[in-house]
Amino acid sequence: MMNFRGFLPSSFNEWEGRVAAVVFTGGCNWRCAYCHGARLVADFATLPAIAPEKIAATLRQKRDWLDGIVITGGEPTLQPDLIEFIRELHALPLPVKLSTNGSQPAVVARLLTEKLPACLSFDYKAPSERLARLAGITAAEVAAVRESYDLARQAAPETVAEIEFHTTLCPRYVNREILATMARELACPRALWILQQYENDIEMLDAKTAGTDRYPREELDALAAVARREHANVLLRYGK
Ligand code: SF4
Repeated sequence: MMNFRGFLPSSFNEWEGRVAAVVFTGGCNWRCAYCHGARLVADFATLPAIAPEKIAATLRQKRDWLDGIVITGGEPTLQPDLIEFIRELHALPLPVKLSTNGSQPAVVARLLTEKLPACLSFDYKAPSERLARLAGITAAEVAAVRESYDLARQAAPETVAEIEFHTTLCPRYVNREILATMARELACPRALWILQQYENDIEMLDAKTAGTDRYPREELDALAAVARREHANVLLRYGK
């Protein structure tokens, strides 16, 4: 059964240009210092479980008002019943955006083979050589992420209409030089690359990161300009 620990019946922020419901799965295999879902990752058992049937019932009621549903986490691709759950959403019918850290290329491959997500969204945290340290993972796990990215790069629009990469501009982990490397590595021209302000006033996995400075607007603009040197399709979100 899907391990859901959060549900938003509607949101304007999670899928560009769409009103979408959002479900959050509990648990993640990574430990990123500035994770914005600290409780969902490390302490999800303290959050009430939400039955998939309850979510499905709400979605059926509201489907005329929704453009889609976003499945995020935590890390949704760790859920054994993910594929089945997305098939059920298709029956409503509701298009699905799946957000993932890319750690499970076998699941990504299956999702693409079955043409299940309308949008595949990757949390793009760092260039390959920095990712292991940032996310607390091994070199083999970094290679798995690269494999997932390659699958997305090779996927035709008929297989998955939208591909997104999301990067949080946390000054401790991303600067102009690092972002330039990320821009070169991205190499997926049709993807939307969303750069978002780092929210420093929420609970985080690493208490030392919480509360650290954010970039001012001018520097966010400069970072977006760096990204746009290599990648045309960049969206900058200034945040609160
Ligand atoms: S930021 Fe994403 S990948 Fe990293 S710990 Fe949080 S949920 Fe997991």
